[in-house]
Amino acid sequence: MITAKARAVDGPDKPFRAAEIKRRDLDLHDVLIEIKYAGICHSDIHTARGEWGPVNYPLVPGHEIAGIVTAVGPNVTKYKVGDRVGVGCMVDSCGECENCRKGEEQYCLKGNIQTYAGVDKYGEPTQGGYSTHIVVQEDFVLRIPDNIELDVAAPLLCAGITTYSPLNHWGAGPGKKVAVVGMGGLGHMAVQIAHAMGAEVTVLSQTLKKREDGLKLGADNYYATSDPETFEKLAGTFDLIINTVSAKIDLNAYLGLVTLDGTVVNVGAPAEPLSLNVMNLIGHRRSFAGSMIGGIRETQEMLDFCAEHNIVPKIEVISADQIDEAYERVLASDVKYRFVIDTSTI
Ligand code: NAP
Ligand code: ZN
Repeated sequence: MITAKARAVDGPDKPFRAAEIKRRDLDLHDVLIEIKYAGICHSDIHTARGEWGPVNYPLVPGHEIAGIVTAVGPNVTKYKVGDRVGVGCMVDSCGECENCRKGEEQYCLKGNIQTYAGVDKYGEPTQGGYSTHIVVQEDFVLRIPDNIELDVAAPLLCAGITTYSPLNHWGAGPGKKVAVVGMGGLGHMAVQIAHAMGAEVTVLSQTLKKREDGLKLGADNYYATSDPETFEKLAGTFDLIINTVSAKIDLNAYLGLVTLDGTVVNVGAPAEPLSLNVMNLIGHRRSFAGSMIGGIRETQEMLDFCAEHNIVPKIEVISADQIDEAYERVLASDVKYRFVIDTSTI
């Protein structure tokens, strides 16, 4: 067993504390990664605070992981010691079901194994990236392109792929009008990626406070959702809306902004249900959909796309002692635009 240092939480309202966790000995296809940086995703907060349902504590969150390979199992072929790698939200899946065979491991019919708050195939609880080391089987490890630094690479492993995948799936590109709701960790990635794909991009944020940043990142337009005129002015405008908001919003107001055959895709995952009036779908043959991260092949494609287009998140690097404070700032929408833990401080 390998001992890793970590930051763990013991309950929904408990602060983070220093901890030691065990990582398994390398199996045939396992890779040992020394984690250098771990992003803080809003999903970490939902999970750590038990908002999505009960979890087993102590819990070490973190599914935006970037680091260096320091050892490989005997049958590993994809990676070698010294490689720059990443790990996202899942560390395994059945590999055999229809969805896994299509490269959509995130929708594994037997359930993928989540990077933390899951149970691995050895029956052990999984613990995430707020730690110094992790052991992952090679098929769930991503290669970080040389021109992306490890600190900014980390958030791509969740925020990047979670926005790239629906933009890709619903055909964001030239001639398409895409709106991004929420200018947070996911939202500011969606803006950059949709812009690079060639779409016309509009940000719908609660206020205009982050407008300048949004325009710099590639948005063509930026509106405040606190202004009721926004909804009148933009009625029936967008082909695609990506909703990244972590809280409950009035979905019906946003459905009204979509054109004939347009789609609202929820990637935001608030604990409370959202309600929709089907008349808002029927009226203009609109769709409402959801999307969860992306498959491993698509995640590598996203990393290579970001490398090619010089897309990286805007980050604030913090030490391990600042995790609780960072959570509060994320909840207050006071993050520009992703906190990343320097794991050497754990
Ligand atoms: P984040 O950085 O906190 O961003 C969320 C943004 O939503 C905020 O910056 C804010 O943007 C807006 N917002 C927050 N509260 C709001 C409210 N009450 N009303 C209206 N807007 C509000 O979070 P994130 O890390 O991007 O994650 C966003 C959501 O996606 C979370 O629920 C997370 O769990 C989920 N998620 C889902 C997947 C998936 O696979 N589907 C993957 C990762 C994360 P403005 O300040 O611009 O208004
Ligand atoms: Zn995430």
